Amino acid sequence: MLLYKNGARYNSIGPWLKDHFGKRTVKAAIDAGFTCPNRDGKKGFGGCIYCSEEGSGEYAGTVERGISTGKKKIAVPVKDDSACSTPAAQITSQINFIKEKWSDPLCIAYFQSFTNTYAPVDHLELLYRDALSHPDCVGLAIATRPDCIGDDVLDLLQKLNEETFLWVELGLQTADDRTAELINRGCTLAEYDNTADRLIKSGIRVVTHLIFGLPGEDRDTMLRSTEHVCEKDIFGIKFHMLNILKHTAIENMWSSGSVSLMTRDEYISLVCDALEIIPRNITIHRLTGDSPAELLLAPDWIPNKRAVLNGINSELKKRGSVQGCRLARI
Ligand code: SF4
Repeated sequence: MLLYKNGARYNSIGPWLKDHFGKRTVKAAIDAGFTCPNRDGKKGFGGCIYCSEEGSGEYAGTVERGISTGKKKIAVPVKDDSACSTPAAQITSQINFIKEKWSDPLCIAYFQSFTNTYAPVDHLELLYRDALSHPDCVGLAIATRPDCIGDDVLDLLQKLNEETFLWVELGLQTADDRTAELINRGCTLAEYDNTADRLIKSGIRVVTHLIFGLPGEDRDTMLRSTEHVCEKDIFGIKFHMLNILKHTAIENMWSSGSVSLMTRDEYISLVCDALEIIPRNITIHRLTGDSPAELLLAPDWIPNKRAVLNGINSELKKRGSVQGCRLARI
């Protein structure tokens, strides 16, 4: 059984970035003032049932701006309105803060809140290039919906991909279209497949988001979603346990008892099952999130992120398994 560097049991993005860039590389979360077609009426109203007013920022692990190292997030005090300051200015405030702890980290600008390709392409280019103008910025991570990458946006991404380091994050959450309808995702698996294929064919790295614990899904459904996304040559994958946040549609379903949540041990066991069927080369960008305490209603074990990550490592060790071990003898 082949372990990863430093005895790791999965291919975590933090060490991968350090190897790739030759030094510590962090992600700086950018709020560029986007909205979402699943909220403004173009595709739907109200958004996905678990999405808060912050536009899924919590699901990516930050509400206040924060630096993510791949293992942990460091919150950065916000002094100005993020949507009003430029991407480069947002990077400056975050990178200055992090430099107090680590000397000269590099940075990837992470366009995170809402749908970060949902604007005219000229406007997108200005925003992305503004981030890249920051001297510490070595690349872009752009989170979006699968139905928001038209040919003009793809052309822009392709151009940027030739000039800099880039990955695009696609919010799929589940490969089951019945669940997708229930959660009001507003786009289909076929749309995800088509967009992921176009990006990959263009040489652009794709990172796919999955949520475990969505209503009506059992272990097999969730592992089928994992298998489905791994059939493509994606660069990375992000997992998240379903969080019940205040002021979301799913809050009512949960209050009425129609949503049951996994225990921490059940989640840990499921994540380990998933890791075992993910090819070794796929990078793991997140195994658990950390929603803000003031919004989180359940599960109550979410805030202790360290316990979840330690639990996953212990479980893999106990099983004697590593990422991808069920795919081939390694
Ligand atoms: S696509 Fe993202 S931002 Fe839009 S409603 Fe769904 S989770 Fe929220």
